[in-house]
Amino acid sequence: MGKLKIKVNSEIEIEIEPCIDCGCDDIIYHDCGYSAFNVIYMKCKECGRKVEVPSNYTIEKQVQYWNDLNDVDIVCNRLQKQIDELKVKYDNIKSRNNER
Ligand SMILES: [Zn+2]
Repeated sequence: MGKLKIKVNSEIEIEIEPCIDCGCDDIIYHDCGYSAFNVIYMKCKECGRKVEVPSNYTIEKQVQYWNDLNDVDIVCNRLQKQIDELKVKYDNIKSRNNER
């Protein structure tokens, strides 16, 4: 017996993080639908923040991609790490400059 592959169009609901920039949770999912080099992005309806998501991901993984970029804890941790790294860099340059 052979196998038949059918694409089913159905609506699913997935939890989504609100936009990190403005807090709006009205997010558009846009699939350009090209077979090659497809562009899929998610965009905040309020402020227009746009995140391109990998088109080879499943829809759940794409939403997770958006969620990781808009999760307050994850984003704040990432920013804090950058601040810490910049502080080290800043202190190094500053102390080197003071020795002159
Ligand atoms: Zn927004």
